[in-house]
Amino acid sequence: MKLYNSASHKKEGFIPHEPGKVTMYTCGPTVYHFAHIGNLRSYLMEDVLEKFLRYDGYDVKRIMNITDVGHLASDADTGEDKMVKGAKREHKSVMEIAQFYTDAFFADCKKLNIKYPDVVQPATGMIDDYIKVITKLLDTGYAYVAGGNVYFDTSKLEKYYVFNDHDEEDLAVGVREGVEEDLNKRNKNDFVLWFTKSKFEDQALKWDSPWGVGYPGWHIECSCISMKYAGEYLDIHCGGIDNAFPHHTNEIAQSEAYLGHPWCKYWMHVHHLNTNDGKMSKSKGEFLTVSLLEEKGYDPLVYRFFCLQSHYRKSLVFSWENLDNAKVAYDKLVARVAALSDDPAPVDEEAAAKYKAAFIEAVGNDLNTSLGVTALYDVLKADTSDATKRALIDSFDQVLGLDLLKKAAAQREKAAAPVEGAEEIEALIAKRLEAKKAKDWATADAIRDQLKEMGVEIKDSKEGTTWTRV
Ligand SMILES: [Zn+2]
Repeated sequence: MKLYNSASHKKEGFIPHEPGKVTMYTCGPTVYHFAHIGNLRSYLMEDVLEKFLRYDGYDVKRIMNITDVGHLASDADTGEDKMVKGAKREHKSVMEIAQFYTDAFFADCKKLNIKYPDVVQPATGMIDDYIKVITKLLDTGYAYVAGGNVYFDTSKLEKYYVFNDHDEEDLAVGVREGVEEDLNKRNKNDFVLWFTKSKFEDQALKWDSPWGVGYPGWHIECSCISMKYAGEYLDIHCGGIDNAFPHHTNEIAQSEAYLGHPWCKYWMHVHHLNTNDGKMSKSKGEFLTVSLLEEKGYDPLVYRFFCLQSHYRKSLVFSWENLDNAKVAYDKLVARVAALSDDPAPVDEEAAAKYKAAFIEAVGNDLNTSLGVTALYDVLKADTSDATKRALIDSFDQVLGLDLLKKAAAQREKAAAPVEGAEEIEALIAKRLEAKKAKDWATADAIRDQLKEMGVEIKDSKEGTTWTRV
């Protein structure tokens, strides 16, 4: 497949380090709050990438960390620890918060058909590894101790600005955000590997280390977790575009300094979900979660479908209206699949191979999911048997994850099922007809109201009266 590599700034043919195998690392959630659907867009598109690689015949190992310590409110090593903040807010312990929101995160993923990663590693379970890596970075001169903390020395690198989106001016993040500058840093982009001087006395999670009791910086966890499970060469590192700097930049700095050779070859960054009034935060004061979508009556897979319709490297504008459009299209798609016959005719293998090749060509071109969806419509329109169509839809859906056959089967079942209370409804309709014939409008209207209260809507026409449940 061809994949846009943020590190080289171009689309490249994908060649894994070991033929046939892919190691894939995803920066997991900081588990202090429910996941925003904007963040879930990243996981969703990464899930499509993983599924596509498997579909294309690769043996994929996907690794994800869970940040349950060390992620400060500002990415520039300042502000309060997000986990401690969450715990304080909810009057719970940090570990309780971590467990609760980890479970909530994976429950959301499941609803969106995002596969559970092969490895999930909470950051707090890897302290010895961080200490080992930091010790080597100190020994080799890439790190220094100042004011009780251990810092990575970015001036020791030949190249720091890997993703090139930022210039020197831009990088004074701390200053720009109006948070206090860390005067221990020798260079403004240096970052903390190990904190001992926490400004927060109630920092709940602390571990002993050669540099004093403290806790790891955020970036070091991803490097160590990746190296533990994927080895010294990582094929694809994924994440939201907002993680490119400083998080991923710093991961590269410390990993390559530690290993002494290039570390991760392909970097895939998913762009933002925006609302009309700005960056993906809130929509009219609502914090956008999967639960909120459900409360408003949307199937979470409608959101998945919505995401698939646009390219992961473009920002996507979220609005309820846009989501409604996706819902209409998704429902229509399910209805079209449901309308396919159970035709037992054998699958036309030749036609199937042709459509599969087109699908692989589309999605394999830097994950063009909207063309992948188009390939699905092409199948529905194709001049081939319904059995072939069903087989192809099943096949493409291994990548797209829209549950199309399952939803279509459910829809057919619902349509075929006898409706509860149908006899009673029919009897009332007959009684109403009699009343109408006798010009007893009061009774006829009363029956209509009674039916309405039962959730039944009737429609009179020349052919008679039909009814539907509303
Ligand atoms: Zn990370």
